[in-house]
Amino acid sequence: MQLTETTRGWFLNGEETYVDKTYDIFHPHTEDKLAQVPDSTPDMMKQAIEAAHAAFPKLKKLTKKERADMLFKAASFIEQEKEEVALTISKEACKPLKASLAEVDRTVQTLQFAGEEAKRLDGEYLSLDAAAGGEGRDAYTIFQPIGVIGAITPFNFPLNLTVHKVGPALAAGNPIIIKPSEQTPLSALYLAKVLTKSGFPKGALSVVPGDGVSLGKVLLEDDRVKKISFTGSPEVGKLIKSQAGLKRVTLELGSNSPMYVDRSITDVETVAQKAVQGAFAYNGQVCLSTQRIYVHEEVASSFKKAFVTFTEKLRFGAPEEQETDVSSLINKRSQERVFKWIGEAVEQGASLLTGGEKKDNGITPAVLERVPATASISCAEVFGPVVLINEVRDSQEALEAMNDSHYGLNAGVFTNNLSQAMQMAHELETGQVLINDVPTLRFDHMPYGGVKQSGYGREGVKYAMREMAELKMISINYQS
Ligand code: NAD
Repeated sequence: MQLTETTRGWFLNGEETYVDKTYDIFHPHTEDKLAQVPDSTPDMMKQAIEAAHAAFPKLKKLTKKERADMLFKAASFIEQEKEEVALTISKEACKPLKASLAEVDRTVQTLQFAGEEAKRLDGEYLSLDAAAGGEGRDAYTIFQPIGVIGAITPFNFPLNLTVHKVGPALAAGNPIIIKPSEQTPLSALYLAKVLTKSGFPKGALSVVPGDGVSLGKVLLEDDRVKKISFTGSPEVGKLIKSQAGLKRVTLELGSNSPMYVDRSITDVETVAQKAVQGAFAYNGQVCLSTQRIYVHEEVASSFKKAFVTFTEKLRFGAPEEQETDVSSLINKRSQERVFKWIGEAVEQGASLLTGGEKKDNGITPAVLERVPATASISCAEVFGPVVLINEVRDSQEALEAMNDSHYGLNAGVFTNNLSQAMQMAHELETGQVLINDVPTLRFDHMPYGGVKQSGYGREGVKYAMREMAELKMISINYQS
């Protein structure tokens, strides 16, 4: 095997290992070759499961303090290498550097949250004498690690979303195998090195790059894998759930996140500025991208004017450049699909206010109004730099439009009317509601997950850990 500067391995038993069969990864913007990585075989995935299974007793034995210390150490290593790590994300995911740097900051925090939560994974005391005949007993619950976890991850947050699985798994004492997105395995390989350097035992963490279908199948069919934690598209998520049998499953899937701007908002410019960020951060390739905006008719024209003005200030360019706000999409297929969906919406009666043109391998940020609910850019997940702004008569019409979706991840409501805010918060069919914030907002310790086709289960470090642990009840009969 000929090793070159760009040859990368897979991560097994604490080290990067090189193989003959590889595939190439290209920079989505420049189309330059970035790396050649293992096109892992099902047998390699079996080896990773074997190694993880063997590491489980060692991980289980680590004290909570030891696990926490290792996670804090990893956070501090990443913090020290922030610029370099961000550049890797920018290249493999074509993410503008500003956004990559923010992802690294969040990753550091997510690991720190995992370290803190490692120490707090506690059960509770139970009064068994609350039941007839239960007297004379003390009872309590503990959380125990469940065993090998398979993490299948998407391309769009190759470091922080991986850490959202790896951090909680290791904090709770479970080994984990990462099957990264085909396009973005480099951040996961880096993470594995850092966590190993921080003290986690060999086999605690493996990275097996390559084809999702064949490698996913091995994870799904092996009984030693106790849980699949998946982030990605609803199509693959449904398939995984239908094949998981008795394994635990967490699914973090897509969305077409909605937001409402009420007439009680006086400073619509500021809201428009935040919404532009929410719509076009990382070229709209965020599961929480602000995609559907409903604005009260009384403030609609000033909102749209400000929105278009801020949108037109965004700079399109190479992802590694400091000034770039938007760049090429992850692949040409995405560019073609997004471009087609914009055309279809216009054919169905929508008006394009700005953008929507092909540029390099991307699309310039597109704003459309009067978009029918049946257009793909309304009812499906765009995952590109496209937003719709439709006028509504009142908050009830907005609520109905917002809930008219197969998805339900985050929703944002801008209003100064408290009872309206609370009513909408209760009636929106989403996992999270953000009052006076865009739906694109997420803090890493929040419980986070979707309803409808947006997912199943919750992440957010503390909540993910509970889904990666077995609750055991222990009762002591002190009168026996
Ligand atoms: P994708 O579903 O195409 O791929 C995700 C992962 O699944 C990849 O690692 C892929 O190799 C693997 N995979 C593909 N087929 C598989 C199979 N049959 N069995 C097992 N694994 C398989 O998603 P993507 O294009 O990488 O990411 C974009 C999607 O991810 C969007 O829908 C986005 O909304 C979603 N996403 C959701 C969240 C969230 O937290 N809810 C976060 C980020 C991204």
